[in-house]
Amino acid sequence: MYNVAQVIDEKCVAKKGCRLCIMYCPEANCLDLNSAKMIAEVNIDRCKGCELCVVVCNAAKHMAIEMQAVSSTGELIKHHKAESAALGQAYQG
Ligand code: SF4
Ligand code: SF4
Repeated sequence: MYNVAQVIDEKCVAKKGCRLCIMYCPEANCLDLNSAKMIAEVNIDRCKGCELCVVVCNAAKHMAIEMQAVSSTGELIKHHKAESAALGQAYQG
C-alpha cells in the first residue's frame, strides 16, 4: 500500500487562477489542470506521494488536496485517510 494525492474538486480554486500545486509538483505529467472542469487533477500512476502539493495548497489556505491510500492492486481506497508520510512536512521549513 502507498499514498497518492487527490484533489477535492469542490475546494479547488483553479478556476480563479490558482496553479500552486501544478507549479510545485516535482513529477512530470503528474499534477495538471483539467481544463474542461477547471480543477487540478492528479495522475495517480505518476504521483510519488511526496505531499508537496498538499503543503502548498494548505499554505494558501485552500485545503483542496488530501492523501489517499492505494491498494497493492492500484485501486484508490476511498474513505481511508492515509497516514501522513511526514515527508511533506519537511518542505514547511
Ligand atoms: S493548490 Fe489547491 S486550490 Fe490551487 S490548483 Fe492546486 S488543488 Fe486547486
Ligand atoms: S504528492 Fe508529490 S508527486 Fe504526488 S501530486 Fe503531490 S506533489 Fe506531485
